[in-house]
Amino acid sequence: MVLMEAHHLFDSSLIASRVSTMSRTDEPSAQPAAVPAVLVRDLSYRYPDGRLALRGVDLTVMPGEAVAVVGPNGAGKSTLLWHLNGLLPGRERAQALHSHGAGRVERNGEPAVWIDGLEVNEPNAPEVRRRVGLVFQDPDDQLFSTSVLDDVAFGPLNLGMSPSEARRIAVESLARVELEDVADRAPHHLSFGERKRICLAGVLACRPSVLALDEPTANLDPRARRRFIELIRGLVATKLIATHDLEMVLELCHRAVLLDNGRVVANGLVRNVLGDPSLLEAHGLEMPLSLKIRRPD
Ligand code: ADP
Repeated sequence: MVLMEAHHLFDSSLIASRVSTMSRTDEPSAQPAAVPAVLVRDLSYRYPDGRLALRGVDLTVMPGEAVAVVGPNGAGKSTLLWHLNGLLPGRERAQALHSHGAGRVERNGEPAVWIDGLEVNEPNAPEVRRRVGLVFQDPDDQLFSTSVLDDVAFGPLNLGMSPSEARRIAVESLARVELEDVADRAPHHLSFGERKRICLAGVLACRPSVLALDEPTANLDPRARRRFIELIRGLVATKLIATHDLEMVLELCHRAVLLDNGRVVANGLVRNVLGDPSLLEAHGLEMPLSLKIRRPD
């Protein structure tokens, strides 16, 4: 089964022209006419309690790219991923920025995030959420049904599929994560690693074109981690992976974006970003061991 529905219609020629004229210095292999799978422009976000979590973030991800989002705790990685499917409503974002009088507001009221050229805003939220599959760091934030099958079928049902079709897709998605045999069990009776895979199945059931994975390997034992990495590797989609697991980044991603204090401080090929010990140290990270070993003294 092909996971990605590659050809989403572009919704507006106005946005198309705006996107095509933007500077895109952060995309090494982009074709001039291609529409980014993810486009973030000058995105700032302040939480209602006043904390400014993102400060003018720019990011372009082309279809099929696998991009790591790395950075110390509190850098803004999760906040950035949540914006991709509009989990933080724009109205609240703009109001919060205005009311605190600091940080950047979306420029002249222009939107700050597009998925496949589709603006992330309230009217587009259902379509954006279909296209962007977000896997939370903690599976217990994502799972809520009493049976695994119901949980995985929830997304397709919500997209308007019939119960039988939703069930068929849920079974198929569980097979993709090698968990078809737990379909009738309660999610909270399963291991942490299994719950993570069920979350992934739930996301895959909606056939997203963009996968946003928040710390996919955190708290997994080595075998469960390896299994999850191989699952991610096999998925055909544009991938954004927020993580501290820099060895996984070396395996799965070709580009890394380094965030610190809500700002993009580096954006480039993985081997350049993760191979720069002073850059990493300045931002609370350490060069992965496998790169250290390969480096000549
Ligand atoms: P990361 O994923 O890189 O660890 P986060 O996106 O979780 O970073 O957090 C970015 C900043 O936003 C941090 O300073 C964090 O304390 C703050 N933050 C995160 N969630 C909330 C929230 N719900 N309310 C207020 N501040 C938050």
